[in-house]
Amino acid sequence: MEYLLTTNGLTKQYGRHKAVNAADIHVKRGDIYGLIGRNGAGKTTLLKMISGLAKPTDGGFSFFGKSGKEVYGYMSRIGALIEAPGLYPNLSAAQNLKLKCLAAGVRRNGIIEELLGTVGLASAGKKKVRNFSLGMKQRLGIALALVGDPDLIILDEPINGLDPQGIAEVRETLARLNKEKNITFIISSHILEELSKTATVYGIMHNGVILQEMTRDELLEKCSERIELKADDTAMACTVLEKIGITEYKVADADTIQIFERLNDSGDITSALASDGIKTLEISLKNESLEDYYLNLTGGKSDV
Ligand code: ATP
Repeated sequence: MEYLLTTNGLTKQYGRHKAVNAADIHVKRGDIYGLIGRNGAGKTTLLKMISGLAKPTDGGFSFFGKSGKEVYGYMSRIGALIEAPGLYPNLSAAQNLKLKCLAAGVRRNGIIEELLGTVGLASAGKKKVRNFSLGMKQRLGIALALVGDPDLIILDEPINGLDPQGIAEVRETLARLNKEKNITFIISSHILEELSKTATVYGIMHNGVILQEMTRDELLEKCSERIELKADDTAMACTVLEKIGITEYKVADADTIQIFERLNDSGDITSALASDGIKTLEISLKNESLEDYYLNLTGGKSDV
C-alpha cells in the first residue's frame, strides 16, 4: 500500500510528559483522515510535528515515501491550519490571501479570486475579516492553507465553535476539495459524531497514543445495530442460521456471531438452535452509538 504520509513512533515529550507517545498513523492519497481524541489527547502536538511546526523528540514521519531530513524539502506540499487561522482582522479576505501568496512566492494572475471562489467566499473578498463569522474565518483559513496547491491539508479542529450552518459549510468545502482536486486532508476533532460525516478514515487518539485506525465502513460496522450470539458450537450455529434463511451475519471473533438482520427474532433464532441441539450461551441486541463506542474505547465519560 502506498501512503502519502506515515508516522513512525512519532513522539513529543514535554518535561516528563509524553504529549505524543510513539504514534503511527497511515494516510493514503485521497483520504480525509479524522484524528479523533479528547481535549489534551495530543492531536495538536501530532499535527504540529507533521506540519514542521514542532520537532519530534523521537520517531519520525515520511511524506511521499521520503523520510528523515529529506522530508522537510517537501513541506511546501503541506498546507496547515493549526489552532486559530492567523488572519489580519483589519484587512479584507482578498488582502489576507494576497499577503500569503506574496510570502509563498505565488504570483499567478487570478489566484486570489480562484481561492475565494473555491471556499465559497467569492462575494466576500472585499469585506474586512473582523466582520466575518467564525465559519467564514475558517473557510478563509482553508483558502490560506490552499495557497501553493498543496497535496495535503492539515486542519486542527476546523469545526470547533462553529454553528450548524458553519459546520455544514466547512464540511461541504472539504468534501468538494477532496473530490475535485484530490486533496488529502487530516482533520482533528473531539467530536466523533461530527467527524463521522466527513472523514473516510479514522485514527483514535488517547493520552498521546493512537489506539486504533479504521475506515469509515469498519467504524460504522462496529456501531451498527446487531444481534450478538454466542453458542456452544459456532460452526454448527452458522449452519442453522443459514437453514432459517439468515445470510447477513459474520463471525466476529472465534465465538461471537454478529447478525445484522431480523433483529427482533432472537426467540426464533434460539429455538432453531435448540432444536438442532445447539446451546445458546449468550444472545443480546447491541446498539452502540458512535459516541458510546469512542467513550468505551477511551475508557469513560466524555469531558466535552
Ligand atoms: P486540545 O483539543 O485541547 O488542543 P489536543 O489533543 O490537541 O487537545 P495537545 O494540545 O496536543 O492536545 O496537548 C497534549 C498534551 O501536551 C497536553 O497535556 C498539553 O498540556 C501538553 N502540551 C502541549 N503543548 C505543550 C507545550 N508547549 N509545553 C508543555 N506541554 C504541552
